[in-house]
Amino acid sequence: MAEKPTLKLYNTLTREKADFTPIDAKNVRMYVCGPTVYDFAHIGNARPVIVFDVLNRLLRHVYGAENVTYVRNITDVDDKINARALRDYPGLPLNDAIRRVTEKTETQFIEDAKALGCLDPDVQPRATENIVQMVEIIQTLIDKGHAYVATGSEGKEVLFSTGSMADYGALSKRKLEDQQAGARVAVEEHKHNPADFVLWKQSAENEPGWDASFTVEGVSQSIFGRPGWHIECSAMSGRYLGDVFDIHGGGLDLIFPHHENEIAQSRCAHGTPVMANVWMHNGFLQVEGRKMSKSEGNFVTIAELLHSDVFGGRKWPGEVLRLAMLMTHYREPIDFSIKRLEEAERILKRWNLVAEQHAPANDAALDGEVLDALADDLDMSKVVARLHALAKETEGSAERLAASLKFLGLWFPSAAWRKDEPVLQDDLKAAIDALVEMRLEMLKAKNFAEADKIRDQLVAQGIQLKDGKDPATGERVTTWEVKR
Ligand code: AMP
Ligand code: ZN
Repeated sequence: MAEKPTLKLYNTLTREKADFTPIDAKNVRMYVCGPTVYDFAHIGNARPVIVFDVLNRLLRHVYGAENVTYVRNITDVDDKINARALRDYPGLPLNDAIRRVTEKTETQFIEDAKALGCLDPDVQPRATENIVQMVEIIQTLIDKGHAYVATGSEGKEVLFSTGSMADYGALSKRKLEDQQAGARVAVEEHKHNPADFVLWKQSAENEPGWDASFTVEGVSQSIFGRPGWHIECSAMSGRYLGDVFDIHGGGLDLIFPHHENEIAQSRCAHGTPVMANVWMHNGFLQVEGRKMSKSEGNFVTIAELLHSDVFGGRKWPGEVLRLAMLMTHYREPIDFSIKRLEEAERILKRWNLVAEQHAPANDAALDGEVLDALADDLDMSKVVARLHALAKETEGSAERLAASLKFLGLWFPSAAWRKDEPVLQDDLKAAIDALVEMRLEMLKAKNFAEADKIRDQLVAQGIQLKDGKDPATGERVTTWEVKR
């Protein structure tokens, strides 16, 4: 068996790649920010899901599956969810409508992640099931002088006092003074500092909320309200992974403000020098140079790619989407295109044709070079190059290729893709032949309207006709094919 490699990870906190040493090799802990469940996940959202799934698999291989705890949360309280609930279920009481939106979206997300070959995280906590923990942290922050209650335009708020933390901004390397000077947001009078952010905010009667009371300087104040976004992750990571854990991940856009503020809350509440030792961020998936996002309106959902024809006129298997994502280093941007998906599919089919002869293979047969490349900050370009080499060598390497593909979640045996090839029943073929024949007769009879009608009908069914001439007789002949 290949030797267990030493992991090297790039850490956003230090802007350096360094050897990874877990706090406790018997419980290696990773937290990744999960989706806000108001709308189906787009393929950009799939990137952290896939990237950190690969890291999770690697950690499990190196430290033993039973010694790794991977937590990915579900954000099911957010103003975007409220807006969506009002739009989609205007007849329902708001809380019921919200539950409909979040349950449906969460179920779809979990299905999507599975279809993309991702293992389930060990814990998938929901924000709404951790409200007590959030209120507790907020109270601790108030007690330690890191938070205060103020009244803004929409009622009472508990705010984090950024000025109370000496090194606020260390992750994103933003200085508080610069933020003040460059602040373009309207100055909110109730904040001590423009960068202060919401921990808890009052809800109107018709908004979702929880009863909470906070003690400020010995006086108890009840605020029926809801949490801010950042406090959710501090509460959930603290509850399941402890005050300080090993790895925290998410997309590049989360560095500021989300992760910066998670760090501020957790460190100030727990009095620790770090929240997580290693901070990892995936690059963006882009379309024509622009970030794929809902606000840009240039997104396609994972479910659409898997189950409909909206992208390139066909469905794409989850394994193909997964490889298309992994072909580029996780910190680099990806330009998402049909060409990329076609290339991923070609490669995947080739590798699996070779590997298939040696299935089933297990972790024991894993290729050492593949592992070493993964251990080097998930260097997938090297992994892909190595898999190409394994697919070329004739002796003994197919088994290692099979094991590596399985390990990476790229096992795609021919049964899975050949069944997608258009296989037509014989009688269906005969029916199409008969219609094509009928159209030829109509053409001969110069009944063009009827002939065109038949052609259009077939095209609508995905059957493309091609007219030609029989070289011997000069007669019109028509062939057909299934358009993909
Ligand atoms: P959101 O639901 O917007 O909070 O995003 C969920 C996760 O997807 C976060 O880790 C984001 O950083 C990540 N993400 C969102 N858009 C993209 C994108 N276009 N490319 C890569 N990651 C993204
Ligand atoms: Zn988070």
